[in-house]
Amino acid sequence: MDPALAALGEFGLIGLIRQRIQHRSPGTVLGIGDDAAVLAPEAEGELLVTTDMLLEGVHFQRRWGRPRDLGRKALAVNVSDIAAMGGHPRHALLGLAIPADGPSLEELEALLAGLEEEAERYGITLVGGDTCSSQSGLVLAVTLLGGLARGRALRRSGARPGDALWVTGRLGASAAGLLALERGLRPAAAWPADVPRPEWLGVREEAALQAAIQSHLTPVPRLRAGQALVGCATAMIDVSDGVASDAGHLASESRVTVRILAPQVPIHPGALAMARWTSREPLDLALRGGEDYELLFTAAADPRPILAAAAPDLPVTRIGEVSTGPGVPVLLHSDGREETLAGGFDHFRSPV
Ligand code: ADP
Ligand code: MG
Repeated sequence: MDPALAALGEFGLIGLIRQRIQHRSPGTVLGIGDDAAVLAPEAEGELLVTTDMLLEGVHFQRRWGRPRDLGRKALAVNVSDIAAMGGHPRHALLGLAIPADGPSLEELEALLAGLEEEAERYGITLVGGDTCSSQSGLVLAVTLLGGLARGRALRRSGARPGDALWVTGRLGASAAGLLALERGLRPAAAWPADVPRPEWLGVREEAALQAAIQSHLTPVPRLRAGQALVGCATAMIDVSDGVASDAGHLASESRVTVRILAPQVPIHPGALAMARWTSREPLDLALRGGEDYELLFTAAADPRPILAAAAPDLPVTRIGEVSTGPGVPVLLHSDGREETLAGGFDHFRSPV
């Protein structure tokens, strides 16, 4: 244990967290410091609640990135879930388990600064949490509460035959970034001397790999896009386990067939480079790599005018269609071949 952290103690650390907190969201009656936080319910709305954990060794390696980015990501992945419902994030809780072999107090402060930075960006107040020691790595478990007008939540179950399937952004970036980190590349660092560089990999490809690493370490939740799609999208999900898996959730919850047209799938340039480097299919990285945190949604009307106003720099691509049929996703290749789409990340099965 870092001596500075040991000297501070659990309650000292909680005190330090409490000091940093800025109250930004409406409805915070009482934040950190009592047995429970007190929140005032929104007058006309419904409450959204979500939680996502980041575990060292499962979701991240500490040596891969900066503690600040880890703090950002812990909140961002939860914001993505609120975005995928079309809601507004408001209040967060942070479960923090700290192993004896680090992080240091300085690193924890950077992590908390990253979390606060993200909280500020999205108007969130950290109102509580729990802090303990860990026997098995660093754990960040964020719970996020948010709000939404009554009955407006964008569920997974609303897709109807005749809707089109759309996705924001470009897919496969996070999986490519993860593979790059596993191969020894580091964010904003020169090519490592001990990693053989493929001769075809030029400046453009290296920049694309760096962008992919950034997507993996600090994903950007599509909050404004998600909120703008309320009233337009019929069903929505954020891409956390990979489109193959997440389109499957839309299909089964909506009891429809979701058909993805392979040539339409927008693939991130970092995923193209990484696929070449690892002799994989780019489409496989794009559809089965997880953690892109893009929005996958169905709509009867063209969502592009709405998204052009709400998130002008965010690409959106029509990648498929919804039809009657069993609740499964299928992939239609350019040669007319059709396959049931399976795979994506599953914690109890094989990794990507
Ligand atoms: P209790 O023993 O009643 O659970 P704690 O000592 O765990 O109380 O927490 C004291 C206060 O500090 C509570 O308001 C709690 O929500 C807050 N807190 C504890 N850990 C964290 C954390 N990691 N982030 C934010 N708030 C925290
Ligand atoms: Mg507690």
